[in-house]
This record gives sequence, C-alpha cells and structure tokens, in this order.
Amino acid sequence: MDIATSSPEPQAATPDFAGFLAQIGQLLPAHCILTRVDQTRAYECDGLTLFRELPPVVVLPENEAQVIGLLRACREHNVPVVPRGSGTGLSGGATPHPQGVVIGLAKLNRIIRLDPETCTAVVGPGVRNLAISEAAIPHGLYYAPDPSSQIACSIGGNVAENSGGVHCLKYGLTVHNVLRVRLVTIEGEVVELGGEAPDTPGLNLLQSFIGSEGMLGLVTEVTVRLIPRPELAQVVMASFPSVELAGEGVTRIIADGIIPAGLELMDKRSVHMVEPFVQAGYDLDAEAILLCESDGTPDEVADEIARVEALLRDVGASRLQVSSSEAERLKFWAGRKNAFPAAGRISPDYYCMDGTIPRRHLGKVLAAIAQMESQFGLRCSNVFHAGDGNLHPLILFDANQPGEVDKAEAFGAAILELCVQVGGTITGEHGVGIEKINQMCTQFSREELDAFSAFKRAFDPYGLLNPLKLIPTLVRCAEYGKMHVHQGELRFPDIPRF
Ligand SMILES: Cc1cc2nc3c(=O)[nH]c(=O)nc-3n(C[C@H](O)[C@H](O)[C@H](O)COP(=O)(O)OP(=O)(O)OC[C@H]3O[C@@H](n4cnc5c(N)ncnc54)[C@H](O)[C@@H]3O)c2cc1C
Repeated sequence: MDIATSSPEPQAATPDFAGFLAQIGQLLPAHCILTRVDQTRAYECDGLTLFRELPPVVVLPENEAQVIGLLRACREHNVPVVPRGSGTGLSGGATPHPQGVVIGLAKLNRIIRLDPETCTAVVGPGVRNLAISEAAIPHGLYYAPDPSSQIACSIGGNVAENSGGVHCLKYGLTVHNVLRVRLVTIEGEVVELGGEAPDTPGLNLLQSFIGSEGMLGLVTEVTVRLIPRPELAQVVMASFPSVELAGEGVTRIIADGIIPAGLELMDKRSVHMVEPFVQAGYDLDAEAILLCESDGTPDEVADEIARVEALLRDVGASRLQVSSSEAERLKFWAGRKNAFPAAGRISPDYYCMDGTIPRRHLGKVLAAIAQMESQFGLRCSNVFHAGDGNLHPLILFDANQPGEVDKAEAFGAAILELCVQVGGTITGEHGVGIEKINQMCTQFSREELDAFSAFKRAFDPYGLLNPLKLIPTLVRCAEYGKMHVHQGELRFPDIPRF
C-alpha cells in the first residue's frame, strides 16, 4: 500500500451500473440482489432519518467469497460502496450513495467459534452485539461493550463506529475489546489485522481500522475478547436538585479513585419521557438522576456502594436507592437504555447528538445547552454517559413544522462547536458519517484532514468505499469557514463562550 502525499480528494470515474449488475448477477443468487423500490426503500436511511437517499441497488451477500467478488465488480465498474450492518447508526454512515450499491452484511451472522479457554469468540460481522453475550452465558462470560442498541446493532457496525456503551467506562470501547478483524479491500484482497496473541508484528493498523466507518474495507470476521461475568452487580440511583450537582457527583466519584461499571446521567425531561413507559421507579421530582453501577465480588460491591453513597450524599443527593435484586438492577438500566426511543412519546421527531467534553465542564456545558433551547426555539433533553463525558443531547422537533429541521440541525451543530470549544470532541461513539462532516473542519486542521485522506487512499485509491463521509473536502471546509468565521475563529453567533 502506498500512502500518497497531499493531493485532491479521489474522484471516482462514472459508474457503469449495467455492467456491474450483469457481473454480480453471475456471482450471487437473485434473492441477494434487490433493485425494486419496494425492496430498497428499507435501506434509504440508517438511524439518522433526517437524511435519506433511495439506493439504486442493495446486495446482501451470504459469505465472504461473495463479498470478494462483489468488491472486485465494484472496483471494475467504478461503483461506490456503502457497507451496512443493522442500520442503527446515528450519524448517517450507512446513508446510501445516489450512484452506489449498499452492501448489507447482516446475513454473515454466524458465531464461528466461542472458546471459553482463551475467552474469545470469532463471529461474522452481522452477528448482533447482544447475541455474543447471550452465546457466552453458559461459560460465565460476556462481551463488555454494550451500546443501548445492542439488541439490534451488529458487531461489524460496532467495529466501524468504535461503539461504546454503559459499561465502557470500566471495560473499554470496541477498540479495547476486539483482538482481530478480517476484512476485504476494494480490490478484493483479504487482510487480517491484529491477532489472538497479546501483540502482533508490524504496524498497529487494527486500532486505526476500528472506527473507520466503512471507508477502508468491509469487515467479514471479528475476534472479540470475552470477560468473566461479575459475581454481583448493583446500581445506586441518586436524585439531585440540579444537573450541576449531579455533574459534581460524577466528578467526586472519579476523583475518589472509583471507576464504576457504569455512570450515567438523565435530566428531568428525560426522566419524565421514559418513566411512564418503563416504570423503572425514577424520581419524577428530581432535576437529574445519576445511575452508578458497581460490580465484582459481594464484598467489593458492598464497599464501593458504601463509598459512592457517602460521596453522593455529601454532594447533595436528595434521594438514594440501591437495586435490591438483579431484576431491579435491569429495571433501573431499562429506563436509561430506552431513553432515545421514549423521546417519541413527547415529540414527533428527535435528533440525537453525540459529543464528548472534559468531565469538569459538564455543569456549564449543560447550562449552555439549556440556554440554546430558547435561542433555537426547540426543546432538548439530556441523557448520557456521564463518566466518559460523552453527551447525548436529544433535540426534539417536528419535521412537519416549516423550518424545524433546519433549526434542529443548527442547534446540533452549535452543541458540537461548543464541545470543541471546551476541549472536547465532536463524537464520542456515534461516528462522523455525513452528520458531523462540517464540524470535522472545526476539530481538525487542513494538514490533519490531508493526513486522513492520505490514509484512506492507501486502502482505497479509487475513492469508492463509503465516499462523501467522515473526511470533508477542503472546499467544503472553506465554505463552512466562510459561514462561521468570527475574529479568526470558527464559531456560531451567540453560543455561550467560556
Ligand atoms: C436507540 C439507539 C441507541 C444507540 N445507543 C448507542 C450506544 O449506547 N453506543 C453507541 O456507540 N452507539 C449507539 N447507537 C448507534 C449505533 O447503534 C451504533 O453506531 C452501532 O455500532 C451501529 O451498528 P449497525 O450494525 O447498526 O451499523 P450500521 O448503522 O449499519 O452502519 C454503521 C457504520 O458502519 C459501517 N459498517 C457496517 N457494517 C460494516 C462492515 N461489516 N464492514 C465495514 N463497515 C461496516 C457502515 O458503512 C456505517 O458507516 C445507538 C443507536 C440507536 C438507534
């Protein structure tokens, strides 16, 4: 592979669709190729439903050999490729390309090997995240990264997005729990990155590949690390009279040297959204609720819970409750995990943002977001991975009201700009996709974006893998800069400054 130096974005030649369809018709059975609108409509968007594009063709390969043949055909006929897992992504990573093929990997959903001795599992990319842990139950093991979408999202999608979840504060993100990835390049070459040994020879490309959003290759097999299920897990649920105090609780827990198995915050609006739906027993009078999980042996859990309770009481928690059974623990989490879909109870549409900030700024950033509600004329609820400083503001809007989509987008962009401003990042776990491509111009310099493009070209010199996503063109950044340049800085007018 040759990492080219700074040069313009790769421009793919015009696709030869007829030639492509004729070739893949020889490679795959007819039922794997969808071209009718009633078949392809289901693939027009992912979880970011604001952006839709009807794909000209969707192909659902059933094995790796078909993936290889397909990618070779794409390369030969210059057809852009959009990989897709379960389509739960929230940044438009699987949004179709108007002249491209969507390749859905959901049928590669076999757990190939689960080895309790080495605590590993080798799985197809279409295996659902939760299915791995379910298969590991008889061995007392589980796969730690647990996106709230884990019932549906695929491990291939998790690898592409470097997904996180409630338990990632203690156990790490996808990148910390995947040992090996097998992928197919646009040329149809099979490449394995990483391995089952603690270290592997050569460049550490595995870590660069994880989170690459389908732009470097198609994942066809993943080896994950499994870890022992803890003997016990319990959750402290704490109510606070203000979001700022709940944020202070987070800071105090971490400062005390505790790394909880999960540490999540929900503001009052989120609690009111979800409680009537899940009936988790949340305190409807609280301005914010903190959920803090401890796991380990019964003694370790008892000790940690006592410390957490004392700290939170000291910070000003108005009510503390500890889960008294596994069923109750799951109930407490059910509210948190269903918070996004529950937004549908109070708003026709919602737009879930994802940015990360240094934890010490939690209080003031949340206060600034509250201020923006009146600036943009939309409501916003907050539910997030507080321990990681990973915010998920849910902007509530009605797409049928003229102008509300634009306002929701502008509100979201302003939140991301604010995250960068306080030293954070524009994505915690949902990726960049098409959603945050403008804010890449804020986060990174021209030289850094050039380096990203060069890295992509090393894998995909033809620019065919998931084009127009993740890495903005320099022209786009220049246009975006013109919109928001203020005294030499990129900024939105009127967002609070720190
Ligand atoms: C209700 C809800 C809750 C969520 N909660 C969380 C959460 O807690 N944490 C979190 O991190 N995310 C969360 N997400 C976002 C989403 O579930 C994750 O990003 C997930 O990893 C996407 O997986 P998927 O299989 O649905 O991928 P898709 O949406 O199908 O694709 C996502 C990206 O991966 C690429 N891709 C997919 N499969 C492959 C493959 N085999 N090879 C190469 N590229 C591929 C696609 O091109 C795209 O860029 C949530 C989403 C929803 C709807």
